[in-house]
Order: sequence, then structure tokens, then C-alpha cells
Amino acid sequence: MSNDERLNLQRRHFVRTAFAAAGGGILGLRTAVAATPAEGWRETVDIIVVGSGAAGCTAAVTAATQGDSVMLIDKSAVPGGTTRLASGVAWVPNNAWLRGAGLRDEEADCLRYMARYAYPERYDADGETLGLDAERYALLLAFYRNGSAATELLQEVGAVQFTLFELPDDTGPSPDYAAHLVENRTPKGRSIWPSPSSPNGGRGAGLVDGMVDWLVQRGVALRLQHRLLDLESEQGRVVGVRLEHAGQEVRVRARKGVIVATGGFAHAPELLARHQRMAYGSCAMPTATGDFLPIAARVGAMQGELGTAWRTQVVLEEALRQRMVGGPVHIPPGDSMLMVNKHGRRVANEKRNYNDRSRVHYEWDPVAVEYSNQFLFLIFDQRAVNTFAGTPPLPRGPGDSGHLIRGDSVADLAAQLATRLSRIHLDHGIAFALGGDFASNLAATIERFNRFAVKGVDEDFQRGAHASEREWQSHFSRVHVPLEEPLQQLLNPTMYPLDTAAPLYAVILAPGLLDTSGGPVIDATARVLDHSGQPIPGLFGAGNCVESPTREAYFGAGGTIGPAIAFGYIAARTAHAEDPIPAA
Ligand SMILES: Cc1cc2nc3c(=O)[nH]c(=O)nc-3n(C[C@H](O)[C@H](O)[C@H](O)COP(=O)(O)OP(=O)(O)OC[C@H]3O[C@@H](n4cnc5c(N)ncnc54)[C@H](O)[C@@H]3O)c2cc1C
Repeated sequence: MSNDERLNLQRRHFVRTAFAAAGGGILGLRTAVAATPAEGWRETVDIIVVGSGAAGCTAAVTAATQGDSVMLIDKSAVPGGTTRLASGVAWVPNNAWLRGAGLRDEEADCLRYMARYAYPERYDADGETLGLDAERYALLLAFYRNGSAATELLQEVGAVQFTLFELPDDTGPSPDYAAHLVENRTPKGRSIWPSPSSPNGGRGAGLVDGMVDWLVQRGVALRLQHRLLDLESEQGRVVGVRLEHAGQEVRVRARKGVIVATGGFAHAPELLARHQRMAYGSCAMPTATGDFLPIAARVGAMQGELGTAWRTQVVLEEALRQRMVGGPVHIPPGDSMLMVNKHGRRVANEKRNYNDRSRVHYEWDPVAVEYSNQFLFLIFDQRAVNTFAGTPPLPRGPGDSGHLIRGDSVADLAAQLATRLSRIHLDHGIAFALGGDFASNLAATIERFNRFAVKGVDEDFQRGAHASEREWQSHFSRVHVPLEEPLQQLLNPTMYPLDTAAPLYAVILAPGLLDTSGGPVIDATARVLDHSGQPIPGLFGAGNCVESPTREAYFGAGGTIGPAIAFGYIAARTAHAEDPIPAA
């Protein structure tokens, strides 16, 4: 079994166990709670943190190191949220490990890269705030100035041991996802992750377990299976929370503030239908139900952009069976592989990162008046299926997958795909058909791709021309099964001609989510803002439950956990400096 398959199985098993432990059912999908109303304040602490993922745990550790009394609350029986399922990589500008390796990441340079990637339509290299409005510029600046301090603090106090994120191929630190932009002066070194040899292990689980253990050992109150129902306010200031636990309501008072870090709404179908154009499945924890959105609205928070997300492609048929998919299609495996739309045309560089690649699904065809890329088709030849078997979405063996569609020729593959799409229409009511030109275009597309593969140059989408594509190729296109002959590679290791004389295969891909990334607006001090842009006293936010400070830009591996850690840290520091209200 490949590592990726094993991870997917572990994720599924973990989620099942966690939610069984939480009392059965998929915790987080329940919204109505019949609880006995609370009377009086059960407890008082300085800072309440809601949500125990990367953002919330960082806030809690930071608050505790400042000498504040802290309560960390989570509705799940198991702490860690979606962070627990993640690889645990954090993209942190100018981080200590990068500096330790002799690299430099100057503030002005890094801000140019971030502004250019996150706001290409506004970016102005010569503008004082790089073409961004002052608030958005301030958020990027705050990220630059606090990310390293946050991770250094976690390391110094012994909660997490970070190391540079390197792929196991001796290529050094993993490159940024747009290392090729001229604005990127530090193309490698900003991605770090918990050292796999640290006591709690690596990856996302190691990240949160390290912080949770640290908190528990220092007597910080950890309240699992406590769901935030509402905020308590007095004279316009948030002074505490109302929670539900085992059918009872509990009120806890916060002398300095409440930091909310409850994740996004990847598993809230109504919110998705309203705010996200197409999202067919997610590998986020089922707890990502957007609980903060109505709660924040009730205290007058300004709702920011809600259509943003950390995106990935998912296998459509897997997502239709179960919204919570086992794993994302990070980078499609293989070299004799390409991706086409309903007209049999390539529409993107197949090896770009999951977040940016997934955005091509939303392209609008103004003549056909439709999303021609709503679903995309990965096409493999027999060689790719055999050689790279075991890296999702390729199954280990021929009988292992219902989603791998086989055809004896291009025309037969088109016919098989058309039949499968009709089946999906019948079973799920999704009417999406191939264009009449699919088979002829696909044949021409393969021919053109094969010429590029021989030359080693993808003249249409520059596949394999960028560092992250080359280095991630060796990671996501591993050969799991011993080959009879050595793997044949051409000049460009990401491309190899497809053999149309043997059977061809297709997998239907749909736009999916790691999690959403929109919500109430925060400022550069992580305060939640009201409708007039003023901070709501006592209320702070970080992570996927608030409007993303980096918009939809996935600057490199760790592009979501990096900002979550930085703003969790900022939130705790801002709350610490608040004038405390009296205990009740
Ligand atoms: C397979 C996978 C791999 C990924 N790999 C990476 C990676 O390597 N690097 C990266 O940057 N990103 C990665 N991501 C994305 C990343 O995991 C998330 O963006 C990030 O972890 C979100 O952190 P968070 O703290 O905002 O929320 P979460 O980690 O989701 O934590 C939110 C917590 O809030 C709790 N909660 C929710 N509502 C309530 C309520 N009402 N009351 C109390 N508690 C509540 C939840 O139970 C949960 O524990 C990956 C995602 C997936 C699915």
C-alpha cells in the first residue's frame, strides 16, 4: 500500500473513531441544540480560545506564555480540527529555519511576492502599498512581521519542533508554488513543518498534539465536546461565551477577550450553496460547519468575502458517494497523463499546485453560457496506470477502483465516459455531458502533447518548467510497484508520450475544498471588525473562520497553516494587552 493510500485510510479511520468517541453521529453537523439554559458564570479566565486547530492552539500557547489564564474549547471529542488531517506544513516568511540555513527573506521583497500572488489585478510594484488598500497591505505586513516570531515562540517553549520542509529527494527545501515570479526573491525555505522525529511526531497531528500536550501539562483548561453557541456581550464588549456541553448550557467569562478559531464551512451544505459556486467534496474535518458566521453576525461583525477557499480537485464519484472524501488530488501522478475538459482540450498545467489548478474549474464560457471545466478528465495510458499505481487517484490494482474508466481506444474511452456521465446524471441529477467534439479533440490533444513530451517543452502550459512541478513530480509520481525495466524518462520528467495503441483510462475530477477561508473581517491586530470597520471590543479571530488575510493565495506548501499560526499568535498578544473587565 502506498503512503498516500495509507494516509487516506488513516484519515478515514481517524474521523470515524473521533466521531464515534464524540457520542456517535457526525459531530458538527448537528446545528439545533436543545440545552438547559445556563445560569450565571460557571468560570472566569483571562482569555477564551474556541477551536483547537493550528490557529486556536497557537493562540492558547501564546496566551499561556504571557501569563494569562486560558481556556481552550472545542466541540469535538478529539482536538486538532482539520489541522490534524493536514501534512502540517506552515508557510512562514523570513522564518528562523530559513535564516539558519543562510537564506534571506527581506520584508519589502516578500511583501511584493505576497501582494503580487494574492492581488494580481491590483498589484503595483511602485505603489506605496503595492496597489493594495491600506487594510489589506497591513494584513500581509502583519503576517510577515509575526509569522516567524510565532513559530519561534512555539519552538522555544517546547510545544513544537520545527524543521525546514524538504521533500525526501535531496532537492533541499521545498520551493514556493510561484517560485518563478520575478517578485519571488526567496524561492525556497519559507515552508517549515513539525520535525517527524519530534516527540509527538510530524505532520498536522504532531503539530496540534505537541501544542495540546504542552497546554495540558501546564494546567490550561481544555474543554472538549463543548460547542460555542453564542458570545456574551455587555455594553458592546464581548465578555464571554455560551457553550453547550452534554445537553447543558454553560457560560464562561473572559476578562480580556474571546479568540475564535473554529475553522471554515466546508461541510455546511447550505452555506456552500449560498457562497461557493461549486464545491463537490472536502477532506476537511466534518466539524468545519461555519458555526462562527451566525454568531459573529449577531454581534454586528462585518462579513468579509465568503467565496474564497483553499481548493483542491477531488474524484467526483468519490465525493458523490460521501461528501467527506478520503484525500485530495494533490498533484496528479504520472507523466504519460494529461487533463482535458468536456471538449477534449487541455486547460491547465496538470502539475500546478492543487489550489491554483482547481481554480480553472470556475472558468466561464460566454458563448456556450456554461462552465466548460465544471468537471475535468484525467487521461492516463496503460504505462502510467501500471507504473504509478497506488498514488491517488490511481488505484493499486485493476480491480481496486470504480472511478477508473477504461477504453480500448480514444473513441471507446469517449463512449465509456459518456456512459458514466449519463449514469451520474441518473443517480445524482448532475447533467453534464461531453461535447460532440470530445473524441476528435482528445486524439489531437494527445498527439500535440506527445510532440511536446518528446521535445521536453510544453508549449501550451509550460508543464515541468517550474521548480515545484519538477520537485513534486518525484514525490507524487513515485513508482510503488517494482518495474520490470527501469522507468523511461525523457528530457522533461513530468511528460511522456501517451500510447494510444493500448487501453486508455480516465478519472472524473471535480472542484473540491481543503476548507473554506472566508468569514468576518479582521484587522492586522486580529480584532474582528464591526459594520463600520471598528473593532468589536473583546473579540478576535484567526484561521479559516475569518476572512483570509492572504486572500486565496497559496504562496507555497503550508499556505494556510502559516497565516493561521501567525494570526493566532497576534490575536493572543492583542488580547493580552486589553484592559481586563472585572470577574463576575
Ligand atoms: C488532507 C489535508 C492536508 C492539508 N495539508 C495542509 C498543509 O500541509 N499545510 C497547510 O497550510 N494547510 C493544509 N491543509 C489545510 C489546513 O489543514 C487548514 O486550512 C487549517 O488546518 C485550518 O486551521 P484552523 O485552525 O483554522 O481550523 P481547524 O484546524 O479546522 O480547527 C478548528 C476547530 O474548531 C472547532 N470548532 C468548530 N466549531 C466549533 C464550535 N462551535 N465550538 C467549539 N469548537 C468548534 C473544530 O472542532 C476544530 O477542532 C490541509 C487540509 C487537508 C484536508
